[in-house]
Amino acid sequence: EQEEARADDDDSGGRAAHFVFVPLMAQGHLIPAVDTALLLATHGAAATAARVRPTVDSARRSGLQVRLVEFPLDAAAGLPDGADNMDNVPAEHMGSYMGAVARLREPIESYLRAHAPFPTCVVADFIHPWTTVLAANLGVPRLSFFSMCAFCLLCQHNVERFKAYEGVADGNEPVVMPGLEKRFVVTRAQAPGFFRESAAWKEFADYIERARAEADVVIMNTFEEMEPEYVAGYAAARKMKVWTVGPVSLYHHKRDATLAARGYATAAIDADDCLRWLDGKEPGSVVYVSFGSIVRVGAKQIVELGHGLEASGHPFIWALRNAHEYDAGALEFLGELEARVAGRGLLVRGWAPQLLILSHAAVGGFVTHCGWNSTLEAITAGLPVVTWPHFTDQFLNEKMAVEVLGIGVSVGVTEPLLYQAVPKEIVVGRGVVEAAVRSVMGSGEEAEERRRRARALAAKARAAMQEDGSSHGNLLDLVKHFKAVS
Ligand code: UDP
Repeated sequence: EQEEARADDDDSGGRAAHFVFVPLMAQGHLIPAVDTALLLATHGAAATAARVRPTVDSARRSGLQVRLVEFPLDAAAGLPDGADNMDNVPAEHMGSYMGAVARLREPIESYLRAHAPFPTCVVADFIHPWTTVLAANLGVPRLSFFSMCAFCLLCQHNVERFKAYEGVADGNEPVVMPGLEKRFVVTRAQAPGFFRESAAWKEFADYIERARAEADVVIMNTFEEMEPEYVAGYAAARKMKVWTVGPVSLYHHKRDATLAARGYATAAIDADDCLRWLDGKEPGSVVYVSFGSIVRVGAKQIVELGHGLEASGHPFIWALRNAHEYDAGALEFLGELEARVAGRGLLVRGWAPQLLILSHAAVGGFVTHCGWNSTLEAITAGLPVVTWPHFTDQFLNEKMAVEVLGIGVSVGVTEPLLYQAVPKEIVVGRGVVEAAVRSVMGSGEEAEERRRRARALAAKARAAMQEDGSSHGNLLDLVKHFKAVS
């Protein structure tokens, strides 16, 4: 795992910036890291791993200076097959997985010493705290990469800074987020901070926190105009330079080859078939449903969700990530549903070409688990969302969508699931699904307002990534700032 990239020597005499990316091998971290690397390479440099090879190869063919270097995880860790990708790592193996990943420091360092050009900085996922040692050994700055919004990062930081959960015995007790002007109520269970859900991970969580505090610079997949007070708030609280560079998915805008294949070499549906299906639908009429790359929905919940979508009356595309795990009853239900809604509902059993779908004019809303990438992709496409968080930062992202930006309708989940847990019981009933979809896709004044806000944000997002835009400027600054001094 891991990669890197560089820019051509520039004409001012200095050697151009050479960014070495060390992404986390989970789609929600890897995909935006690759996009950021490719964006930097359009002005400077970057890199990543196996599932993203088609994207990187395509960028190389277009002339970008990007190199992908893969480092195998050590076999002694005893990880199951496919465990180099974190979404295939069962929770009970997570400890040995993180250990094996941290042991990549040495081979990465040796590689970088042996292969010119020498890096000018390391861009590391924040879940790789060991990269502080890598960067220190190489004598270069370490940039912490977050595919998270500043609102979420500031909330997590304030919880630690103000010890907001101290003395809060019940994980479901409401707590007011400290240090923010606007009032947000969360629970410790909803917003525990990364790896803070269980005491078993305390040491690792503390290590991440120290590494976060020690980073030289922060790169965030968000944009200034969407949340200026939180970007400034985080930079001030951390006393750290924050570079907002998003939405990085816009790298793929007008690049059809990588738009459809982002994240996986092959989607579970042919891109042309998908486009043809969407082309036959009215503008803004289709709702897209996906819970990202990690969430696994239980069989009973699948049936409930299916009924809700059917009853909503709207055309839908439903990405079913863990369809192969369902019992016979759920599979039978899905087959029957597919027959009943033929032409109106499209089921994708596996990886969906999400960006391609969201950027189609026929799509008018998104039922999302509130992973930050999906949330930002919805924003970038100007779409209102139905929010259905499951775990990690998703409850804070829901607050961002619903309470900060005003583009979401919540299905009302209050208690998070354990990471990767597959609930046996129904969490959200069919009637709630139907009502939330109808509300987001509807034509009432409130729905129109939501849509207007979403479209306005999308315009700001695009402007941020265009010449003279804030994120575009930050990408250029990064390349300038991290070029070699020699
Ligand atoms: N994604 C996709 N097809 C799928 C599921 C996910 O292209 O079927 C992409 C999605 O566009 C996003 C990423 O995978 O870029 C998921 O990241 P997110 O932060 O939304 O959720 P996570 O998977 O980390 O929970």
